[in-house]
Amino acid sequence: MLRFYADSMLGKLSRFLRFFGYSTLYRSEETVEAMIETAQINDLIILSQSKLVVNTCQKQNVKAFSLPTSSIDEQLKILKSELEIEFVVPPKEMLCSLCNSNISKKEKDEIIDKIPKGTAQNYDDFWQCNECDKIYWLGSHWENIKRIIERVEKGKV
Ligand SMILES: [Zn+2]
Repeated sequence: MLRFYADSMLGKLSRFLRFFGYSTLYRSEETVEAMIETAQINDLIILSQSKLVVNTCQKQNVKAFSLPTSSIDEQLKILKSELEIEFVVPPKEMLCSLCNSNISKKEKDEIIDKIPKGTAQNYDDFWQCNECDKIYWLGSHWENIKRIIERVEKGKV
């Protein structure tokens, strides 16, 4: 599975990639040199909106892609065509969109006191981050993600 390092302008894309199980490091304050070093040590592909950053990476033989757009649809389309990434709905594996850690399936009783009452009534499948404890369910946010993926997969971007 490909692993990424997204620069400070790509927060939304980072959450998206994590949601689809692609480990994505996202730090907002780091120099290009530090990013390159981290990418080399951890075998990460750098994603950046800056052509300059991407050129600098490539000169040092670090795999990097420039995503010169702030549209999430366009960004996903570029990744799909350049890296042949598949966005399968629902994802086979998910990582925590906040902290990039593994999440585990939970029984409703285990987390019922931590979620809104309406959510507990309307949903049956829940996951929780092993590190930061964030709870996930396939709610309205999920519908939004599904629509974006459908657009990208159908080539409507
Ligand atoms: Zn987390």
